[in-house]
Amino acid sequence: MQGTPCPFGWYRSVDMTGFAAFLLLATACQSATNPITICIDPGHPSEVGLGTRGKDVTEIHIAWVVAKKLEEILKKQKVNVVLTKQSENQFVKNVDRAKVGNECHADLMIRLHCDASSGTGFTTYFPDHQGTQNGFTGPDPALIKRIAPIAKRFHEVLRHDLDGFLKDNGLLSDDKTAVGSKYGALIASIHSQVPVVLVEMCVLTNPKDEALVSNADSQARLAEALADACVKSLDKSR
Ligand SMILES: [Zn+2]
Repeated sequence: MQGTPCPFGWYRSVDMTGFAAFLLLATACQSATNPITICIDPGHPSEVGLGTRGKDVTEIHIAWVVAKKLEEILKKQKVNVVLTKQSENQFVKNVDRAKVGNECHADLMIRLHCDASSGTGFTTYFPDHQGTQNGFTGPDPALIKRIAPIAKRFHEVLRHDLDGFLKDNGLLSDDKTAVGSKYGALIASIHSQVPVVLVEMCVLTNPKDEALVSNADSQARLAEALADACVKSLDKSR
């Protein structure tokens, strides 16, 4: 997308009482040239718990490490990135994770988790109908319609990029998760006002998957694929 030219030259002609004006202009420039905002939500700890763990690593750690790599890759592509957590072990309730995505008007919120099961590989989840939590029902039906093609495209790209690397378990409704089956959708999806997908990046209780995602090169490959999926999923929706 073409942005307006950055008016720093014009700023130089403005008298310097206005450092605040400079900051405003800098912000305006940034949003003109960086049209996409991605909110990255590294899973856990939250009110639903600390997540799973493998023999040696925790879901919290893998989600955090991949989130930081994904942030770095997206920023290099001039994408605006907002994280829901500022440190690995920060506790953030799911409703507050949704608020971060809403407040930055994210084009896409991507939530990173690792699964616990007897299987292997990655799965993408999205809200395809409303759920209710604490008397609040969401997401909005218009948003549910918007999310479907984004989630579909996101998963297609991820499957393509991770072919031969991690097994694809498909694109599934939020209600196929333990938390989603309780509320009808995942808690952050219910409270989201922006498109949202959740990726269970691997099965951490599977030693093969644990070994794979514990490796720095594999984490980088996973983050590259996730970045590609984020950006390409939005190409199609614009
Ligand atoms: Zn989790």
